[in-house]
Parts: sequence; structure tokens; C-alpha cells
Amino acid sequence: MSKTKLNRRTVLKAMGTAPILAAAPQAVRAMNESDVIVIGAGLSGLNSALMLQGEGLDVRVLEGRNRIGGRMQSLRNVPGNPEVGGTAFAPGYARLVDACNTYGVGLVDLTAVVPYYFQRELILNGEVISPEQWPTSPLNPFPADSKQMMPWSILGAFMAKNNPLQYADAWVDPKNAHYDISYYDWLKQNNWNDASIDLAYNTNPTHGMSAYDASALMMMFSGAFAGVQQQIARSSGGAMGYTAKGGNQSIPEAMANALKHEVQLNTTVTGIRSEGGQAEVHCADGSIYRAKRVICSVPCSVLRLIKIDPILSGPQARGVSTLESQVVNQLHLVAKEPYWEQDGLNPNMFSNSLAGMVVAEHKGAKPADVSSLTIWIRGQDAAWMDTQPDSVSTKAVMDDFLSMRPAARGKVEIVGYKSWYRDPFSIGDWAYWQPGQVSSFATELGKSHDRIHFCGEHTAVSNRGMEGAMESGERAALEVLNSI
Ligand SMILES: Cc1cc2nc3c(=O)[nH]c(=O)nc-3n(C[C@H](O)[C@H](O)[C@H](O)COP(=O)(O)OP(=O)(O)OC[C@H]3O[C@@H](n4cnc5c(N)ncnc54)[C@H](O)[C@@H]3O)c2cc1C
Repeated sequence: MSKTKLNRRTVLKAMGTAPILAAAPQAVRAMNESDVIVIGAGLSGLNSALMLQGEGLDVRVLEGRNRIGGRMQSLRNVPGNPEVGGTAFAPGYARLVDACNTYGVGLVDLTAVVPYYFQRELILNGEVISPEQWPTSPLNPFPADSKQMMPWSILGAFMAKNNPLQYADAWVDPKNAHYDISYYDWLKQNNWNDASIDLAYNTNPTHGMSAYDASALMMMFSGAFAGVQQQIARSSGGAMGYTAKGGNQSIPEAMANALKHEVQLNTTVTGIRSEGGQAEVHCADGSIYRAKRVICSVPCSVLRLIKIDPILSGPQARGVSTLESQVVNQLHLVAKEPYWEQDGLNPNMFSNSLAGMVVAEHKGAKPADVSSLTIWIRGQDAAWMDTQPDSVSTKAVMDDFLSMRPAARGKVEIVGYKSWYRDPFSIGDWAYWQPGQVSSFATELGKSHDRIHFCGEHTAVSNRGMEGAMESGERAALEVLNSI
């Protein structure tokens, strides 16, 4: 006789759309109460927590990972502490610089090493092409007046000249919604040919897999933000950029140290409920936390896996379920010998093969010293890597790298590999907006939902990256202060 098996999974399945967070025993419910719970110990969550603590509120931070910092991660076991996440910032990152000053994090002035970053070896189809050869190379698809431009700088220069946004947050102004088309379409409208777009953008895409799935409006925001940062840096007459002493992860770590309650690590949130004058946070380990308000800082790629009750609706729900995070992988290498002195090529590379972009980290005693190298793999190549076992994908990248730099054979060691997409606490890197998404929900994503508030770089309106994260944490904290 067959018996109906009732196990936990079938019970959960059967519950279907029933209240998504099962009632917890009263004894458990009484525990873990505070004024505010912040989900995520990245920059945005920590900034909101510290602001609220400063206003006298009792704040707890729950963090799924076993470390502080989120998308700020520094390799402490590698010379120079190279960054796996947030790489560098500018003097115009006012909130971030202020946090460094307030919480005692030293700044490293990058001015002397910035020029190294812009010199790269161009390698197309395995062929090294010098800046002198490039204007007349048959592989150069750029128009006659731009033949001398290198593929990694031509788009930035074009955007700087042709950006219709006068200021960074104009990207969410409805009057600019007509630019919320694909970057490809906008470039085509501006007389770019397909081969140029392919080389300058699709080879190493910063947002999306290609210019087709990046919103031109987002790229304009990015360009306007970069322009403002350059202006501030130039007018201040000081540093062109910074990293933090000990690696950028030191910033969120110092912020976390300033909290009265230690960040609760290894605490993965699975559900948030806002009901009956309070909010409740449910975690994978069965623990439940209650507070007057919750601030959730996780990226949309993760947020859509967290059950929210009552459910989100309208453009905000659409945004949470569709906003994607960039696929980026990194391989970190240490050179046992300076192979670039042997082959006479620059250690930095831009190529149209798997080892797409190689950046020499100048974090040694002298600006010229190369402390380690980072291979950045983006777009389709990174997506391919994510389908493979690490041993297969990293070998393929190294084979490609060594085919371009045979002098490096036997002289480099892999010291780190990161797939941001495979990391369950980020499922990708920075958010990228596809055509139509900015006008559809950019201003909706960060709106509070009952007792739940949202922050994270993807909800920032005026700043991007690390400073965007800080801006968003500040906005969420102010919302809570106004409501409590
Ligand atoms: C490779 C790379 C390079 C970058 N370079 C730059 C740069 O040069 N300049 C710049 O300005 N920005 C850069 N950035 C972006 C910058 O690092 C991020 O914008 C910023 O750190 C995001 O902070 P956040 O607080 O919004 O998100 P996060 O740092 O992602 O914080 C969210 C936190 O929530 C936690 N979390 C997730 N899910 C759960 C869960 N279910 N339960 C509990 N906790 C959870 C995460 O572990 C994380 O700690 C870069 C990022 C990367 C990855």
C-alpha cells in the first residue's frame, strides 16, 4: 500500500502562496529585538547602521558572509593587498573619504601610479600592436579622425564630449527618458560603426554582455559621475585617486568596529516580514530578529531570493526581479620574475581573447613596482568561465595569457580566483541597467515598503559604486529616522 510521504519539502510546497514566513514559536519571537535591523555589512548597510546608532537607536547588523565588506574585498595574503572588489576611489567620494577619516583608515594617494593604468599593450587576434602601429593597422575600425585612439579610451573620451547629461542625477529625470535606449543604438545614432562598437565595448564590456543590453542613459550617468569626479580631483589640486591602507576592505571593517553590537556574521536572511507594527527578519539558521524597522542592503540578484511579506508590487517588484548584476571574474597572479623586462612589453594588456584585460598592480614600495597582476574577465567570457569547473576555466585563461606572453611561462603563480556571479551573496557585481529599465524603475527600487527600507549601490541616484553605496545608506537611515 502506498503511503503519502509528508516531508518538510512537500509541506513547504503545499503552502504555496500561504503566508510566506511561517509563524515562529513565541519564545523565539521574544529574542533578538532592536530598533533597527540592517541586512548586510557592506558599505551601504554599515553607513546606515552607524548613522542610526549616532542618533541613539539600537541597531543590529546581520551579515550572511563570514566576513565584513560585501563587494569590498582585499586579498590580504597577496603583496599589496590587491582588490577583488571595489578598486579605487576619488577625492570626490566625500562620504567614503569622510568615513576613512572618522574611523581611522589611512588613505593611499594613487596620483603617482594612475599614469601606469592608462598604458596598456594592445593585443588583437594574438598580435601585439604598438600605439605607433595602431592608427594604420588593418584591425583599426575607428573613423579617420579617431584612428589614434586606443580601444580602451575611445568610448570614455566620446562620452565626455557628447554626454547630454549636465549633472549625474539627471539620468533619472523623466525628460531624459528618451536616452533609455541601448548603448548600441545610441552609438549608432552617433555614427559609430559596428566594428568599432564591438572592439571598444563588447570586447571587455563594463555593463552587460554587450552594448545591446546596456542602457545608454546608465552609461551617461556613469560618464557624468566620472566627469564630476575628475573635475573635483583637478580643482582640489590634491590626489587623483585613493585606496585604503591595508586594502579597501579596511574601510567597512573599521566602520563595523565602530558599531556597539558586533556584526552578526554567517547569518543569512531568507525572509523579511512587516506586520502588525513591527518587522521580522528570518534567517537560514532558524533565528528570527524583530525590530521597528528593517534596512535591506542586498543587491537585487540576491534580494529576489529573499521572501518579502507583504510582497513587493508594481515597478519596484519588476525592478527587484529583473535588475541584473555584471558578470565579472578575476584571476590574481604574482610574478616571480619581471617577465615584462624580458619581452619588453607593458605588463598591462587589453586583448580580444579570454584573458581580456590584465592590470599590473602598483602597490609596492615605489610607484613603478608591480606587486601583483589582475586578469579581468568580463561579459560572455566570464559567463563561460562560470559554466566550467575552476580548474578548467582558470587553465584556459592562463593558456591564453601565456600564448600572448610566453616570457611569463613558469614565472607567474595564481594566488586568487574570484567569480562574483558564483558568490551567493552578490550573484554578480555592480548592477547594470538594460534599455528601458532606468525609466521604468530606477526611482522606485529604493522606496520603502511598509517597515522595510532598501539601500545598496543599485538604489543610488547621484553617485556610483562605493560612494553610491554610501549615499544610499544615508538615504535609508534618514527615512528610518523620519519614521521612528
Ligand atoms: C570587482 C569590483 C570592482 C569594483 N570597483 C569599484 C571602483 O573602482 N570604484 C567604485 O566606486 N566601486 C567599485 N566597485 C563597486 C563597489 O564595490 C560596490 O558598489 C559597493 O561595495 C557596494 O556596496 P553595497 O553596500 O551596496 O553592497 P554589498 O557590498 O554587496 O553589501 C551587501 C551585503 O549584504 C550581504 N548579504 C547578501 N545577501 C545576504 C543575505 N541573504 N543575508 C545577509 N546578508 C546578505 C552581503 O554579503 C554584503 O555584505 C567594484 C565592485 C567590484 C566587485
